[in-house]
Amino acid sequence: MVFTEEKINQLNVLLKDAKQVVITAHKSPDGDSIGSSLALYHYLKEVYTGELHICHPDAAPKFLHWMQGADEILSFENNIDEVKAHLSAADLIFCLDFNSFGRVGNEMQPFLLSAPGKKVMIDHHLNPEEEGFEIVFSDTSACSTAQLVYELIEANANQTKITKACGEAIYTGIMTDTGSFRFSSTTSKTHRIVADLLDLGIENNKIHENTFDNNSVNRLQLHGYAISNNLEILPEYKTAIIYLTKEDLERFHYEKGDTEGLVNTVLSIEGIRKSIFLKESDGIIKISFRSIGEDNPVNTLASTYFHGGGHKNAAGGRYTKDLKGAIEKLKSVLPEFC
Ligand code: 5GP
Ligand code: MN
Repeated sequence: MVFTEEKINQLNVLLKDAKQVVITAHKSPDGDSIGSSLALYHYLKEVYTGELHICHPDAAPKFLHWMQGADEILSFENNIDEVKAHLSAADLIFCLDFNSFGRVGNEMQPFLLSAPGKKVMIDHHLNPEEEGFEIVFSDTSACSTAQLVYELIEANANQTKITKACGEAIYTGIMTDTGSFRFSSTTSKTHRIVADLLDLGIENNKIHENTFDNNSVNRLQLHGYAISNNLEILPEYKTAIIYLTKEDLERFHYEKGDTEGLVNTVLSIEGIRKSIFLKESDGIIKISFRSIGEDNPVNTLASTYFHGGGHKNAAGGRYTKDLKGAIEKLKSVLPEFC
């Protein structure tokens, strides 16, 4: 039980006393960090009367811009002065969809750490680092942080305060973090929540369409290019490695979010149990890991060798030198994980 009466009461006291509230989430936002942030934002608009801002480390990818309230999200990369001011003025800071302060990125982290407001974590990642948080709502079995925002509202018996915009944001977070309700983290509870949201009038078909059917030709061609030219299958490890260089990304006019899903496409290859996607990004190599199976974790691979971590079947990390070196290192350590 994550949302105990004691913790909910503690949170409600903090909220009652707070004049300014900030909602933040991890760097490189995805459907769940944006979905949970907007869900909490729309909910708080109904139950809290003080000043409220969403301040993220960086901007949302284009495929999420359709979401109601997305244009109100401030980012440290684009609105640095405003974000710094809101962080230092906030009495209460909700930290969503991350388990350690480092996940907001080196640029924003010092300002979040030195912000005097009380911090509340709502998250579903493994091994939460609780130091520095006043209250921690962590449920590593939850499919998404968006589901936890619903459970927070439910624990307050406030489901009637879920507006359409709030419900759509919860749905979007759940949908994206469960791979459209297919990962094993999708439980009967998840489906019950979604059923409640449908009863509230959210249009599930529109949400899927808005999120997934807005591909640019460049994005599809980028995926096609990577699959045709930069894919390596390692049958002995049931692993597929795919990569994109800076030049590849430039060639297809890469925009934030364009590589989303590529690692999952590769995982769908028959017989493949691990997929790894490497991308040249800001002078480092960003690595995404995906796997199939309870007994096939990739978060340990990411944390042991690539300064990362994550969930058992979906993790991320980085390599600070060149792409070739990253691939060589991967191949040399893969046997330990097969
Ligand atoms: P993605 O491959 O979509 O970037 O990340 C997949 C998952 O891996 C994320 O949901 C997050 O839990 C985790 N992850 C990604 N990058 C990092 C990282 O640099 N450090 C840690 N600890 N986890 C990461
Ligand atoms: Mn998440």
